[in-house]
Parts: sequence; C-alpha cells; structure tokens
Amino acid sequence: MTPAPSPAATSGQPLTDRFGRTATDLRVSLTDRCNLRCTYCMPPEGLDWLPDDSVLTNDEVVRLVRVAVTLLGVEEVRFTGGEPLVRRGVVDIIERCAALEPRPKLSITTNALGLARTAPALAAAGLDRVNVSLDSVRPETFKQLTLRDRLHDVVAGLAAAEAAGLRPVKVNAVLMRGVNDDQAPELLRWCLERGYELRFIEQMPLDAQHGWRRDEMVTAEEILRLLSERFLLSEAEEPRGSAPAEKFLVGDGPGTVGVIASVTRPFCGDCDRVRLTADGQVRNCLFARDESDLRTALRAGASDEELADRWRTAVAPKRAGHGIDDVSFLQPARPMSAIGG
Ligand code: SAM
Repeated sequence: MTPAPSPAATSGQPLTDRFGRTATDLRVSLTDRCNLRCTYCMPPEGLDWLPDDSVLTNDEVVRLVRVAVTLLGVEEVRFTGGEPLVRRGVVDIIERCAALEPRPKLSITTNALGLARTAPALAAAGLDRVNVSLDSVRPETFKQLTLRDRLHDVVAGLAAAEAAGLRPVKVNAVLMRGVNDDQAPELLRWCLERGYELRFIEQMPLDAQHGWRRDEMVTAEEILRLLSERFLLSEAEEPRGSAPAEKFLVGDGPGTVGVIASVTRPFCGDCDRVRLTADGQVRNCLFARDESDLRTALRAGASDEELADRWRTAVAPKRAGHGIDDVSFLQPARPMSAIGG
C-alpha cells in the first residue's frame, strides 16, 4: 500500500479523486436500523445491527462533518440511514452542523415515519430540505412493499415537512415489477397535486438478500414510457450538473418529474458524492468494495488534519464507474441500509 502523504503536504486540498472529480456532497448514515422492511432493501426479520459502541456518537458525527466542511470543501450534507429519524440526537446533530462555518446545505433522506412530529424541530434546528421515500400511495401496496401499515404516517410526515418549510419536498420512489410498476402515473399525479417533486430511482443491486436481477428491474426507459402514456413530458432545460436525476417538465409545468437511472444510464463521471457510514467508515462509492476506517483514528486521538488526510486518501482511488455492467461486478458486502442510501 502507498503510504499516505504527510498532512502538511495536502493541507487545504479538497476530496479529489484520480479522475479529477471532487466530492462536495457528503452522505452521512446516522444508523443502520430501520422501522420499515422494504422488500427490495431488507429481509422481514431485519439484519444484525451494528453494535452500539461501533456507532459514532453525536459528538463524533459532528466532528467528522466539521472536518469535511471546514477542511475538505464539503458543501452539502445529507443525513440518511437506515432510518435517520430513529436515531436519538438527530435534531442535536443537525443543529450543530448548521452552526458550522461555512454553513453546509443540510438535508435528510427519510421514510417520514415520525416526521409529522419532528418536522418543526428539524426545521428550527437548521435542516433545509427532506427527501421522502414513498413507493405507493395505495395503503395495500405500501404494506406489501414495506411490510408495515404506515402509509398514513408518511402522508402526514410529507405534509408536515411542507408546512415546516423543508422545501422543495422531494419524493423518491422505486418501482418493483408486479408490485407497483402499474402505479407510476398515479404516484406522479399525487405528488403534482401536492407540490412534491417526484423522482423514480432504478432498483440497484444493494439489497441484503441479494435478490436483484437485471432482467427484472424496471428501467428508466420503461418508467418514462409508462409516464408518457398519461403525461406530456419534455426535458427540463436546467443543466443537470452532478445531479443524479434526469428532470422532465410535466405538461406546461411547473411540476417536474425526475428519473435516476443509476443502472442503465450511470452518471459516475459527474459524481460528487462521498459517504460516511454510521460506524465511521468512509466509502468513496455506493458500490465500493473497500472502506476506510476513520472511527479508529478518531478514537485514537487523531487531529482534524490527520482525519482530513485519511479522508483524502480514501477518496483518491475512487473507481471511474460503479461497474454494475462488468462481468467482474460484485455486490458490496454491506447492503444499502448499512451504507446509507
Ligand atoms: N430510511 C430512509 C428512507 O427510506 O429514505 C433512508 C435510507 S433508504 C436506504 C434510502 C433510499 O434508498 C430509499 O429511497 C430507498 O427506496 C432506496 N433504496 C433502498 N434499496 C434500494 C435499492 N436496492 N435500489 C434502489 N434504491 C434503494
């Protein structure tokens, strides 16, 4: 292994990889636990959760976010999981991250259970936006997909987020063949009526059960065909940049819909993301096979500069692409819920 350059040599440098991409968007997983059991993500019985003492404390999370923002040029922080709202201390973490200089943009990806109660406190703490995962607005399909009868909580959570000013409220949906792939237009109409920005995400090989099948997944092309049967879609003019969603204007607007074609039209060349797991491991890609341990260094007393340097070293070898289409592709050892989606 190449030894890490000395902190003095790299001080002030951002998180740039060997292909020149710079990571400015940090996804922080606050827990690997979840209160839903989406069938494409987790088995009904749940998983072996991370031991409590391996999970970063609030202070540790805030310290690493501070290092990322003040020393590494990170501009946006998205809290995720597992389900980030089941983590005690989420409001405290957000409040402390919002006090950082420069202030990062702060958002959360959540299933919205409990959001009806917490949205005002999250907004007051400094959260800017929410992304809510919702795959169906039919109670029976929602229950079939998540194994919980909680659609009403999600609907209330979305309304509370909107009312608290956590806008734009984005909704993420995954279509599963034979389960909800007939509901794409219905979901879009529902979101348009409420002013939520819907984005469909292609299902990726990141489930704990390793049940993903390329020939079964619903592709972006198919999603757009299904939507076009009911809506007039035109490509939104704004430049896509590093945003993963291809955006379309619905009718004359102002409503839009996005499609995130992570599998069939990957956007790795423009990727600006880096991930920190709940147990303090840096991942330079969702599909990375390696992780870099910041927690051990942090607990052993590493300085901020040393942590920043380890982080740079973790991002530098990021691969050109996720490689799902390569014959050599191997699904990462950790599922999406443990990496932080
Ligand atoms: N619990 C939170 C939530 O529901 O948004 C955050 C974590 S969840 C893993 C983040 C997102 O990943 C959700 O929108 C979920 O639908 C999506 N997801 C989970 N497994 C996926 C997979 N195999 N392919 C694509 N998206 C997936």
